[in-house]
Amino acid sequence: MTFAYVFGPVASSRLGHSLGLDLLGRRICSMDCLYCEVGRTDILTCERAPYVPAATILDELAAWRNENPGTHVDHVTLGGSGEPTLNSDMGRIISGCRTILPDVPVAVLTNSTLLHRKDVRDEAACADVVLPSLDTLVETEFRALNRPEKELTASGVAAALLTFRKEYGGRIFLEILLSKGINDSQENLALLRQFVPELAPDRVDVTTLSRPGAYSKAAPVDADVRAAWCDALNACLPAADPQQTGIFLRTGQRADFTQRDDRAVESMLLQTLSRRPQTAGQLALALSLPLDRVERALRPLLQSGTVAPLPSQNLQQQDEDPFFALADR
Ligand code: SF4
Repeated sequence: MTFAYVFGPVASSRLGHSLGLDLLGRRICSMDCLYCEVGRTDILTCERAPYVPAATILDELAAWRNENPGTHVDHVTLGGSGEPTLNSDMGRIISGCRTILPDVPVAVLTNSTLLHRKDVRDEAACADVVLPSLDTLVETEFRALNRPEKELTASGVAAALLTFRKEYGGRIFLEILLSKGINDSQENLALLRQFVPELAPDRVDVTTLSRPGAYSKAAPVDADVRAAWCDALNACLPAADPQQTGIFLRTGQRADFTQRDDRAVESMLLQTLSRRPQTAGQLALALSLPLDRVERALRPLLQSGTVAPLPSQNLQQQDEDPFFALADR
């Protein structure tokens, strides 16, 4: 079966082997971040709707389980091509995941912009781990970097996160993404130093761009800046290789796709490249495949023009490896 809304599992530094569910199916989001790896937001909205109905996603998840017996998954992760909490079927999707994969914890990725709504907080609270992002508390930076729907403010998002923290007994992994010259200011750092202890997340990750963003203005910060922010915010500094992280190693298992035939590998590559540009090395890591297997599968896709290399856009690629994306991205 071809899967439209289930993808992976891919190796994640925070979630181990993460089986992704795309709750939007299109680029629908409450923000249009400069750094978005998925691409520019097509529909900018805060309106909730069953963009992909629960039954559609859960039927696919059940089919994926039946086709992949024994494949190890650490988390089922609600995310996708936009903001997953916009899907008004999210609560039903989380409870369906628990029925279909009862031993697998559920994670929700969110940009935090809908947490002011009680219904969204109640649904998100059914997950085992919630991974909110909040990149800046400076309103001008928030507008410049995250380009939110016009009603949203950084202070409103921060207040909603604090409310959620009080109500939710599960784990919160906060992510702060830094973009050079936009939100790496001392003003933002000072505000976040007050906010983070108040939120008391179980984990903080300070990240920067590692793949091309939707807009060329977005650029990664230097390693020393990121390290200083990690220190100041008591954040994790994940290894570049997620297989080296504690979370990954704790699982004690790796998905093994090496036995997949060439067609299956090609389909996995196309699926993951449809979500974000990646280098051959990143693809190998994400899909738990040897690099030469990825390179072999990429060759005909490049020759046919289905996949094309992208310019590296100022990213800190020590090895200068090209990023690949679907040609019709
Ligand atoms: S990075 Fe996340 S929040 Fe920002 S536009 Fe992309 S999907 Fe939306």
